[in-house]
Amino acid sequence: MDLEERGQAVITRMRGIPALSHLPVDDLPSIPLGLLRRSATRLHAVCRYRRGARKSEGVAPADVRCIDVHPYALTDQWSRYADFLLYHEYIHALGISNHGREFRELEALWPDEGARSMGQEFGRYLRERSSKWLWVCPSCGDRHPRSRRGNGRYRCRSCKVILEDVRGS
Ligand SMILES: [Zn+2]
Ligand SMILES: [Zn+2]
Repeated sequence: MDLEERGQAVITRMRGIPALSHLPVDDLPSIPLGLLRRSATRLHAVCRYRRGARKSEGVAPADVRCIDVHPYALTDQWSRYADFLLYHEYIHALGISNHGREFRELEALWPDEGARSMGQEFGRYLRERSSKWLWVCPSCGDRHPRSRRGNGRYRCRSCKVILEDVRGS
């Protein structure tokens, strides 16, 4: 499934959520979808408003320039999370630009409950992918992404075993 098809599928699922029926869901398909840089580690997806759009005056899908998603979220391993990311950004596009109570209530209605909690794991995956070194516990297998070698100076918190340096990307 490519990104456009994924977006269409998410919008179709949104049409089945009654709490969204008063919002302009039918205007969402016109929003262009794009990709973040591969090197992005903190941002998983973003809803970019057009220049001049005033969030304080309320925004609509027509005020959205594009929605960008992290390319690694579009792999089979993370596709459920990609759908949730699109859902999250589409709620912003529907005019709820902040993460206030209304936003969180709507966000919680995404039918794939597991996908809603994949953010932390995905963030960890991105940091591991982009880090130069992993400090790995040879006993429990715990991995800590780091920018430099540990050189035998650090121990696993739970096993008290010295962590080994493994080259990352
Ligand atoms: Zn957001
Ligand atoms: Zn350990």
